[in-house]
Amino acid sequence: MNLTKRSLAFVALAFAMAMPTGWAAAQEKLTVVATTGMIADSARNVGGDLVEVQALMGPGVDPHAYRQTRTDITATVKADLVLWNGLYLEAQMEEFLLDLGQEQPVVPVAEAVPENLLIGSEDYDGKFDPHLWMNPNLWSRVVLNIRDAMIDVYPEGEATFTANAEAYLDRLRELATYTTEVLASVPAESRILLTSHDAFNYFGNAYGFEVVGIQGISTESEAGLQRIAELVDMLIARDVRAVFVETSVSDRNIRALAEGARAEEHEVVIGGELYSDAMGEPGTYEGTYIGMIDSNATTIAAALGGETPEKGMQGLLN
Ligand SMILES: [Zn+2]
Repeated sequence: MNLTKRSLAFVALAFAMAMPTGWAAAQEKLTVVATTGMIADSARNVGGDLVEVQALMGPGVDPHAYRQTRTDITATVKADLVLWNGLYLEAQMEEFLLDLGQEQPVVPVAEAVPENLLIGSEDYDGKFDPHLWMNPNLWSRVVLNIRDAMIDVYPEGEATFTANAEAYLDRLRELATYTTEVLASVPAESRILLTSHDAFNYFGNAYGFEVVGIQGISTESEAGLQRIAELVDMLIARDVRAVFVETSVSDRNIRALAEGARAEEHEVVIGGELYSDAMGEPGTYEGTYIGMIDSNATTIAAALGGETPEKGMQGLLN
């Protein structure tokens, strides 16, 4: 945001605060563009009424493969603040975002998390696994980075951003408590999570699950028949009875795996659909970060023999 625009926003805000409700809607808001839905949702929670947040990637979109459209470029260039995950999640957008960062505030919010909390990438040398949102405690650190990025571009909003972030972090702590409890109810020998791609390493670390992805951390590589055959053997040897599909990755490999196991007379069910790299539909509970993680934990625990409330943490799951 340039100085003129910033002071205008502040004047508009001061003006709106002195006016009866209704005027507030007319004030100029800080415009934030986020790459993923998870970042956008957290930015909305932190920014509250002071921000207008747009996510570039909607439900079912794979961030490893997504490339900016012409409309995205326009929105991004106009934004007061651009938030992206970083850690090579948005592999196809990285060059664009780094270039834009030379001109305006563009912040990779997962990259300021201390390296000792990150997991190394198996796909790329010297890079880290970008899927931090899978652990609510780790995501809380990203939320603080989002708060700081907002304060940097709009210092007048500091008190609001700080208070909103505190309230949101309380809810993330409740989420961490619920997910820990519900996943601890899965029998120890069944704590194996088999999915399409390696999005769940932070989940595995946080909750004590062994995590196996058919593809690697990125979704770019194709799984070969050899890999599928090895995993069928593993399913049989470990007596794994449920595997999971992801909303943002094709389910072809997972279905091939379940078929392969069935051909060997080992019954494997699709345990449900997980939100790995994208949230659910906007306007639904699953279309929020908390709903997404609640849904994943509840689905996984239920399919692998744990005890779960029927509709998740708050009775809101569809
Ligand atoms: Zn991923």
